[in-house]
Amino acid sequence: MHISGTKLLKILHICKNLCIFAANFSNMKRFLYSLLFLCIGMTASAEVKYVFYLIGDGMGPNQVLAAEMYLAEMDGNIGRKQLYMTGLPYSGQAATFSASNGITDSAAAGTALATGSKTNNGTLGLNADGDTLTTIAENLKAQGWGVGLLTTVAIDHATPAAFYANVKKRDNYYEVGKQLVRTDFDFFGGAGLHRPVPPEGQTGPNVYNLAEENGYTLARGLKDAESKRTEAKKLILMQENDAIDRRKKSSGNFPYMVDNRPEDLWLSNLTSFAIDFLQAHNDRFFLMIEGGMIDYAGHGRDGAANIQETIDFDGAVGVALAFYQQHPDETLIVVTADHETGGMALGNSNYTLNLQQLQHQHCSAWTLSDDIGSLFKKDQKKPTWQAVRAILEKRLDFYNGVSISAEEDAKLQDAFRKAMKSKGKRSFRTMYKDLDALCNTAIGILNQQAKVGWTSYSHTAAPVPVFAIGQGAEQFTGWMDNTDIAPKIMNAVRR
Ligand SMILES: [Zn+2]
Repeated sequence: MHISGTKLLKILHICKNLCIFAANFSNMKRFLYSLLFLCIGMTASAEVKYVFYLIGDGMGPNQVLAAEMYLAEMDGNIGRKQLYMTGLPYSGQAATFSASNGITDSAAAGTALATGSKTNNGTLGLNADGDTLTTIAENLKAQGWGVGLLTTVAIDHATPAAFYANVKKRDNYYEVGKQLVRTDFDFFGGAGLHRPVPPEGQTGPNVYNLAEENGYTLARGLKDAESKRTEAKKLILMQENDAIDRRKKSSGNFPYMVDNRPEDLWLSNLTSFAIDFLQAHNDRFFLMIEGGMIDYAGHGRDGAANIQETIDFDGAVGVALAFYQQHPDETLIVVTADHETGGMALGNSNYTLNLQQLQHQHCSAWTLSDDIGSLFKKDQKKPTWQAVRAILEKRLDFYNGVSISAEEDAKLQDAFRKAMKSKGKRSFRTMYKDLDALCNTAIGILNQQAKVGWTSYSHTAAPVPVFAIGQGAEQFTGWMDNTDIAPKIMNAVRR
């Protein structure tokens, strides 16, 4: 092929221009990359000053999805109405087995989440060999951070206790309480102490008195806490009805959401209060928030209560997220669970879900059991089926909004006859409350109609979801172990 001199010159000129363009482009590229790395560098070097660690006790993936699909059904849709937690940009799953068991309890799981070490079921803050572990809350407190622990159950219960206690047996509540007041943590919120006084046969101080000696202000209810907020250096906020009599043990938990938990005990409101309190006293803070009663509802196979507890927990995620939006460069939010409870399944027969059926349940299984149980109290007349049916109509809309088939009716009447024989003895043992077998049958029928299945009255080894946003959140993806989470949080704080 022949190319003329002018053509050759033209080609050379184009080549030169292309080279200059390429050089500029590569400079531009280099410049853009430098800018990007600078941004990443700036982001990476931004200091994490606020860590939110939210733990839904007993909240497996299906508990989260059930809440979303229930809310969608209530709007007349099939699908998901997104919760705050599932909207976070990073997510993964964590396995939860303990050092001693394929299925963990809350003490071993809490210890794993708080320290990054597995331990035996029942143990708090010690590894399987009995060595003392340090929690991320203690670690950050030692570095001058404010620390707050919030829960819907007792503040000496396994999950919060996993962040400060070192005991071989989690139900050694008196010892756990004494360790609580020695933490110097800034804020505790939840139901009062399980055991403020020593066990029988032992002597020792009342833990509430010890708390005050250690500089804690005790508040009962949010109003009381508001009035003490400025004078208090460290605060223990309990529900109003608990701990008024210092010798008595706490009820151990808030009322269920489905039993009309008062607004001042909603996790979102408590979280807002805790944030304000910690911010007023500290430049940095770590706040653990536990939705403790998702687990309780799971133990009772109570789908309606379970969903409402998950929604309450998600409200706290929403408050943390609003805080993140104000401080995006300095905040890390991690949401997870300690284990799944109940083996909750979505679907039990065909291809339909009918979660909205659970809207007919107007109280928890616990309250229903108390209602039915009251009919069997000694001073009452012999309970009639009509009286029981009236309770089922009122509390579960049975025979009205919820149609009861002949087979279901026979089941209920059979349970009633058995209850009569056993004089209403609560024959159904669940982890936190013995339920009336008749109540259990009724709640079972409603769950069945909603197409919610349960495989267990206890925990399962199902993986738990992990969601994250903020500084260092990109670490929380993929399939991990529950012991990976605490070290990842500390990584985010250190870099
Ligand atoms: Zn449990």
